[in-house]
Amino acid sequence: MKILAITNQKGGVGKTTTCVNLAASLAANYKKVLLVDLDPQGNASTGSGVDKAHLKHSIYHVLIGKKTLNEVIVSSEKGGYHVAPSNRELAGAEVELVNELARETRLKQALNNLEQKYDYILLDCPPALNLVTVNALTAADSVMIPMQCEYYALEGLSDLVNTIKKVRVNLNAKLEIEGLLRTMFDNRNMLAQQVSAQLVSHFGDKVYKTVIPRNIRLAEAPSYGLPALIYDKASRGAQSYLELAKEIILINQIVKDNKHG
Ligand code: ATP
Ligand code: MG
Repeated sequence: MKILAITNQKGGVGKTTTCVNLAASLAANYKKVLLVDLDPQGNASTGSGVDKAHLKHSIYHVLIGKKTLNEVIVSSEKGGYHVAPSNRELAGAEVELVNELARETRLKQALNNLEQKYDYILLDCPPALNLVTVNALTAADSVMIPMQCEYYALEGLSDLVNTIKKVRVNLNAKLEIEGLLRTMFDNRNMLAQQVSAQLVSHFGDKVYKTVIPRNIRLAEAPSYGLPALIYDKASRGAQSYLELAKEIILINQIVKDNKHG
């Protein structure tokens, strides 16, 4: 089982699009996947075809200790994976947890008590370095950072890296950055090419080889409650996330082989 936090405190960089489409693509590769929506915006839930307005229970109830994960998980029928959904209620968790014990490890505990076994658990983080994000980093094995190759892309990355370091020291020694993902990439844009080259020279093989292109199908699919793979399998967007899933499966296979060999 691999728990991957998809995080970047910068808004609109493609975190949720990556979670939903990677979940569907891993599922298409016969992996059992759970997507945990940790954003009060609930976009990963909606994009997976889950009606966030009429949830009886959500990830909010799990974090405040009122429900187990097993009790809130629903299935994304079309996507072929499971979802722990979220909605606006989650915005209250931050305040409610402030004086609670073990507030940073709520999600980790909940995942420890899962009844179902999954190959991959993807955590869709909100655009903030808040307590919910710290819960994700504490529960995760590794971090994926989606980013747009634009002028300010690297700004803020150091804050995120510092937060990851702090979590590693205090809460989760095994946490590592698995990779940086270039999203919404436009090959004709010179600046994007320069920033991309910079990323690779700074971070080397920490940058995923797969690049996600800017593709309208990826933006349209959520309004139908579908991953792009189901909405338009042939689209460049859907195909790029299939490629990313293959790359991630390979990375984790190699890590496993190294551990056992
Ligand atoms: P937030 O920080 O608000 O949670 P996010 O990082 O989760 O945002 P998304 O919601 O995935 O980002 O993407 C932001 C917007 O860009 C959405 O409208 C989405 O449909 C669109 N988008 C994401 N990736 C692509 C892409 N590769 N091509 C075209 N549009 C994209
Ligand atoms: Mg999002």
